[in-house]
Amino acid sequence: MSFESLGLAPEILRAVADQGYTEPTPIQAQAIPVVLQGRDIMAGAQTGTGKTAGFTLPLLHRLAAHASTSTSPARHPVRALILTPTRELAAQVEESVRTYGKYLPLKATVIYGGVNMNPQTEALRTGVDIVVATPGRLLDHVQQKSINLSRVEFLVLDEADRMLDMGFLPDLKRIMDLLPKQRQSLLFSATFAEEIKRLSDSLLRDPILIEVARRNTAAETVTQIAYHVDQERKRELLAHLIKSQDLRQVLVFTRTKHGADRLAHQLDRDGIRSDAIHGDKTQPQRTKALSDFKEGVVRVLVATDVAARGIDIDQLPHVFNFEMPNSPEDYVHRIGRTGRAGSQGDAISLVSGEEMRMLGEIERLIKREIPKEVVAGFEPGTASSSTDSTRDRAPRGRERAPQRRPEIPPAAERHAQRAPSEGLPKPAANNHHQKQPMGHAASHGKRPQRQVAALLGGLKKKDS
Ligand code: AMP
Repeated sequence: MSFESLGLAPEILRAVADQGYTEPTPIQAQAIPVVLQGRDIMAGAQTGTGKTAGFTLPLLHRLAAHASTSTSPARHPVRALILTPTRELAAQVEESVRTYGKYLPLKATVIYGGVNMNPQTEALRTGVDIVVATPGRLLDHVQQKSINLSRVEFLVLDEADRMLDMGFLPDLKRIMDLLPKQRQSLLFSATFAEEIKRLSDSLLRDPILIEVARRNTAAETVTQIAYHVDQERKRELLAHLIKSQDLRQVLVFTRTKHGADRLAHQLDRDGIRSDAIHGDKTQPQRTKALSDFKEGVVRVLVATDVAARGIDIDQLPHVFNFEMPNSPEDYVHRIGRTGRAGSQGDAISLVSGEEMRMLGEIERLIKREIPKEVVAGFEPGTASSSTDSTRDRAPRGRERAPQRRPEIPPAAERHAQRAPSEGLPKPAANNHHQKQPMGHAASHGKRPQRQVAALLGGLKKKDS
């Protein structure tokens, strides 16, 4: 299918062509015609599927059909409101709106907290057609009367599940009360929990349901693996994997802000340029960390779940779960940071014994098993009794050497050399590990997990 066949305005097609997109992604192919018809949609689509263009392109088309050239806010009301859970996502969606709308006479602005309100108020005063906003700051503007939502024709809730997770439901309800009943509404969510269905019932009129990835499944293009390792050796293993595989752009998730700071600091000391992004950082700090990471100035970005929402980096190849998330749904969001728009990605979880139960819950949610392996030299039970994973037990200024220095082959090779599955959980049915040839390892027959580790970590070493 081509973009041309979707019936979008020539100005939009030109902007899409400028981006180098040749054909619509599945969510775009399904959503665009329905939105152009004026129908409400409830779409189950994860980040990375191209969902932003899926709603932005038809929205721009419909807005452009009746664009106003006036700069007077009175004759130039806010006609489209796009709500996102985080500042980063809001900024990125607005960037997409600008990118795809660059040949159209439409104006957009972004509104989020953590920065001075005045420039936002100023932008609103000049009259904008499209507002991308986080709920809290939007309500601040409502209170200050710097925005009027009574003429909104289109509402988009992006990552609605995350907005509910973040406790935005009361804010959303207040915002809905300010919108005209007669409007077109589009709801996007990675997961369809019961609360999302309730929200959609109150928000959408006779919606068309669109689902591109199976409900609650992890992105198909992401290769998932879990390394069983003692909690206190995780940092060492992470540094080792990054260095030995020469990983360049690595997003690492921790559970807490403090943990994120500490890990970034320690990796930095290990000679791996790292920064942290979380809710206690100021907006300029978050923006800087993200842009340094995108530009390759910083090799590792350590993030908490909330802060990582909306991080959109083309072909982000590696996501690590340094700690397993608090909820299985967060795992789906985390690994959605990689393998975007059809590119391949690795999601690597460092799982301690205590976290194995959480891994099981995740597998139940995504309905597939995640291959579990042990890296030679990092076998569980080989650590000292410390329980603090990110505490640096190394002599100052020196990396603590692993007991053995295993050579981990690069990711692609590693997949090819994966050991046979006897004694290991069966890899996920559509996990591309499985599609890889097993290589020479396939002929080894039954092996206990430790030996599998040896295969992985020390392929050159003697191979029983
Ligand atoms: P999203 O799911 O909206 O966050 O988009 C994920 C990434 O896919 C973004 O970096 C987009 O630039 C890219 N993208 C969106 N649509 C297409 C397309 N039709 N072809 C190729 N890449 C796309």
